[in-house]
Amino acid sequence: MLTVICETPGTLSALERTLPVRGENEVLLRVKRVGVCGTDLHIFTGNQPYLAYPRVMGHELSGVIEEAPEGSHLVAGDAVYVMPYLSCGHCIACRRGKTNCCVNIQVLGVHRDGAFTEYLTVPEQFVHKAEGITLDQAAMVEFLAIGAHAVRRADVKAEERVLVVGTGPIGMAVLTFAKLRGATVTALDTRADRLAFCTKQLGADAVVQIGEHDVEQLSALTEGDFFDVVFDATGNPKAMERGFQFIAHGGKYVLVSIVRDSITFSDPEFHKREATLLASRNATAEDFDTVVKAMRAGHIPDQALNTHRLALADVPTLFSGLLNPGAGVVKAIVEC
Ligand SMILES: [Zn+2]
Ligand SMILES: [Zn+2]
Repeated sequence: MLTVICETPGTLSALERTLPVRGENEVLLRVKRVGVCGTDLHIFTGNQPYLAYPRVMGHELSGVIEEAPEGSHLVAGDAVYVMPYLSCGHCIACRRGKTNCCVNIQVLGVHRDGAFTEYLTVPEQFVHKAEGITLDQAAMVEFLAIGAHAVRRADVKAEERVLVVGTGPIGMAVLTFAKLRGATVTALDTRADRLAFCTKQLGADAVVQIGEHDVEQLSALTEGDFFDVVFDATGNPKAMERGFQFIAHGGKYVLVSIVRDSITFSDPEFHKREATLLASRNATAEDFDTVVKAMRAGHIPDQALNTHRLALADVPTLFSGLLNPGAGVVKAIVEC
């Protein structure tokens, strides 16, 4: 079977591998679609903190069941999506239902080989029927679930003013689910094309381009109060540090993106606000379900979000082009 492997940062090769053999509680699935994620781009560029090479990337996948264990809720031919965060089920986080931050987490395409291939085996419990959604939509559930999780974690309310800093796919996912909760949402980014997308496709209430007067603009939008909830989805330590000043007194700051560095903040500024600082990591089955329901209800502009398509065999030649901001990529989908 054709497999694309990231040998070392910057090097992708297409090669033939033998078909994997299904373990006792695993399904064998035929991979159909794989979304390309910021995580994959970080693996490719060597900026992913939890990774050893070589690695087969790809964790945003949909597929069709080839083989399932006897008595499984899945049968051959079922269209499925996969929760790529394989959690252990017995650590402190799993015992508290927080499978998204399992101590022993194994993320497909990060800690173990992922979906840039034709066939994959996955423990059955992480595979869900893609009912009422297309294979393209099913491959987009994961990144949207990250946004749904962050919004649920912040407990965003309809009367709240929300700021999303960084409008890559994850920031867009956060914006989408904050809007679905009825909040008033402002997006902040350097890129005018991304901000225009947020207004046109995602219904952002306001957008501000990062620049000399952005703080005044954010202040004016909130009568000087700033924001009940600020989400960082930039992947940039300086931006993460800067975001503390955008929190309203009594507000929350949710760090969705992760960086390799330490970040610091002024304790007097943090304390006078009695700010709540939250990390948001991955997503749980509940968040995946929230996304699928929103898709079925037609609340997700998935066709607009899927800006690019490529075939698995073309990944080694076309992948680096997806990094170019000029390409206008929001979500690229690899067809297997
Ligand atoms: Zn992802
Ligand atoms: Zn665990």
